[in-house]
Amino acid sequence: MSFSHLGLSDKVLAAVAAAGYTTPTPIQDQAIPHVLARRDVLGIAQTGTGKTAAFVLPMLTLLEKGRARARMPRTLILEPTRELAAQVKEQFDKYGAGQKLNVALLIGGVSFGDQDMKLTRGVDVLIATPGRLLDHTERGGLLLTGVELLVIDEADRMLDMGFIPDIERICKLVPFTRQTLFFTATMPPEIRRVTDQFLHNPARVEVARPATTATNITQELVEIPANDWAKREALRRLIREAEPTLNNAIVFCNRKRDVDVVAKSLTKHGFD
Ligand code: AMP
Repeated sequence: MSFSHLGLSDKVLAAVAAAGYTTPTPIQDQAIPHVLARRDVLGIAQTGTGKTAAFVLPMLTLLEKGRARARMPRTLILEPTRELAAQVKEQFDKYGAGQKLNVALLIGGVSFGDQDMKLTRGVDVLIATPGRLLDHTERGGLLLTGVELLVIDEADRMLDMGFIPDIERICKLVPFTRQTLFFTATMPPEIRRVTDQFLHNPARVEVARPATTATNITQELVEIPANDWAKREALRRLIREAEPTLNNAIVFCNRKRDVDVVAKSLTKHGFD
């Protein structure tokens, strides 16, 4: 399957081709038509599945019509961290190069003044972390009443970071009639509660975890008795068996003090 049957605009298709992508990933294939049909989407997918382009590409198509007004962003994307927010902005810069869109970042570590100036000029896409966004709305420099499309990305990470109350507040500041795209890798009960409350008859799109192991790595499972001494003994045996070809190895433990014990034990047994 190619990108051409998904309903994306010619400009966006040209940008995708220029980026060298020929085949949509499963999340793109399934989510893009729903986004273009203006449906809410619940996307259960993790990083590495191509989920960012699954919302960036149809958003670029939808944004070709209409213009931004001062202080009233047309679309809003929430990200848990500034790094993720910056990565999403890069994708808009990459695929939206042929379009005169104003894309702004609202993240910590950037001066309020600079961010405010951009907002005054009007933005088509605002990419923000929840705390910084609420700071701006509270100062009155930003109105969310013009938001037509809201993206909540990495929702389960937002939960881990304690952002869910902020997300709920933001959801109440954007118009009820907006379109919402919600992405999460897992569906714990707290996330389900948010999706039940803020998504309207969403299209549910779920993709499998991508294969993440390299094919040139051989993996082995070694069964050993569950006592610490036996584990260290097994480790020494494995290292000795591999020694003719082994130059370097990494041993992971699940606690700091286990690392300490294993390191001391290996040293005592003459390993470097
Ligand atoms: P993401 O899951 O959004 O973090 O994307 C993971 C990586 O896949 C990114 O580096 C994208 O540039 C890349 N990617 C996204 N869509 C495609 C596609 N259709 N074909 C090949 N690579 C893609």
